[in-house]
Amino acid sequence: MAERNVVVIGYSAGVAGLTTALLLSKFPGYRITVAAKHMPGDYDIEYASPWAGANYMPVSLRGTDAAEWDKATWKVFHELAVNHPESGIHFQDCEIRNRSNDVGSATANWFSELLSSAPWFKDVVPNFRTLSKDELAPGIDSAIKFTSVCINTALYLPWLVSKCLENKVVFKRAVFGHILEVSNLDPSLEVDLVVNCTGLMASKLGGVEDQTVVPARGQIVVVRNEARKMVNLSGTNDGDDEACYIMARAAGGGTVIGGSYQKGNWESQPDPNLATRIMKRAVQACPELTGGKGIETLDVIRHAVGLRPVREGGTRIEKERMGKLWIVHNYGAGGAGYQSSYGCAEAAVKLVRGALEVQTKL
Ligand code: FAD
Repeated sequence: MAERNVVVIGYSAGVAGLTTALLLSKFPGYRITVAAKHMPGDYDIEYASPWAGANYMPVSLRGTDAAEWDKATWKVFHELAVNHPESGIHFQDCEIRNRSNDVGSATANWFSELLSSAPWFKDVVPNFRTLSKDELAPGIDSAIKFTSVCINTALYLPWLVSKCLENKVVFKRAVFGHILEVSNLDPSLEVDLVVNCTGLMASKLGGVEDQTVVPARGQIVVVRNEARKMVNLSGTNDGDDEACYIMARAAGGGTVIGGSYQKGNWESQPDPNLATRIMKRAVQACPELTGGKGIETLDVIRHAVGLRPVREGGTRIEKERMGKLWIVHNYGAGGAGYQSSYGCAEAAVKLVRGALEVQTKL
């Protein structure tokens, strides 16, 4: 097969683009160029991936494509955690605590599958069980526990870049106003197909301008204090769009405590009052963080904000013809960009291969 040029926007930097590039680069016959405004190492409000916890805590609903994508991703994360510690992924016990007074809140709705006593993933992740009444902390009505993973995104994103480089993927910085500008990237390149992994910025990119993609603002605090297990609550007493979770990143990445899920909010700066509430809730939910002491004993590395690219109707994985170009979209994963990354990338790669095969026969 003749080599095809596949240029991907947002491939390089975001978890969606990098994973898609990596899977596609395993097939022969493609010249893949990754072109993006932000790359691993950058911290920017337009770039969600570095801010994620990130853990595997499926919020997808039973019987949906999203559940299939999450299921496919677990297999790979499991393999990476067992055999590739250099990827920055490790296993951690995960406990999801449910409070009946959170029913109907934004966080509880987002977590609805997680809060069920028999979620679809109970036979996928290891060591799933429902806690007995006498194991429940005060104020908690029910809880589940399983073995999950936590990803140190500061290691994992560069690791994905390294794997792509091994497979001869080319990386370039570029900012596109319109999706068709990719054709002008390099006069020596005739672009056959573009994979669009622009995340939240798909809402602003010319030719896409998907108004159903909105931010769900997540504020976090990264601390040096250690937590042996991940803890997630169904809600808080501090408002509908606030959350409480704790997770320890692999390989000295610190412990991430969160958070919030503020839909439609683009504010990039941490709110100090919210930060105090986040720290208080974390210390209460996980006293081992500070040995039972107050938030003044949290050793803060950084306060931060990231914007989850939430799309009404879920992640868009579709192909589209624009003029002479095929476009394959893979954006809008919301708060699940890591835990669905391999499933989504596999689906996008299938569309890429199908589109280019049709083109070859034309
Ligand atoms: P991004 O990471 O935003 O990447 C988009 C890329 O496109 C960038 O490289 C950008 O430069 C490029 N780009 C965009 N527009 C243009 C343009 N016009 N020209 C050139 N380049 C462009 N997910 C989980 O699975 N588990 C978690 O525990 C988790 N926790 C989270 C916690 C927080 C606080 C946040 C904010 C998110 C969390 N997420 C989690 C969600 C996850 O981070 C996102 O779903 C994921 O990072 C989205 O990745 P992406 O590649 O689609 O987008």
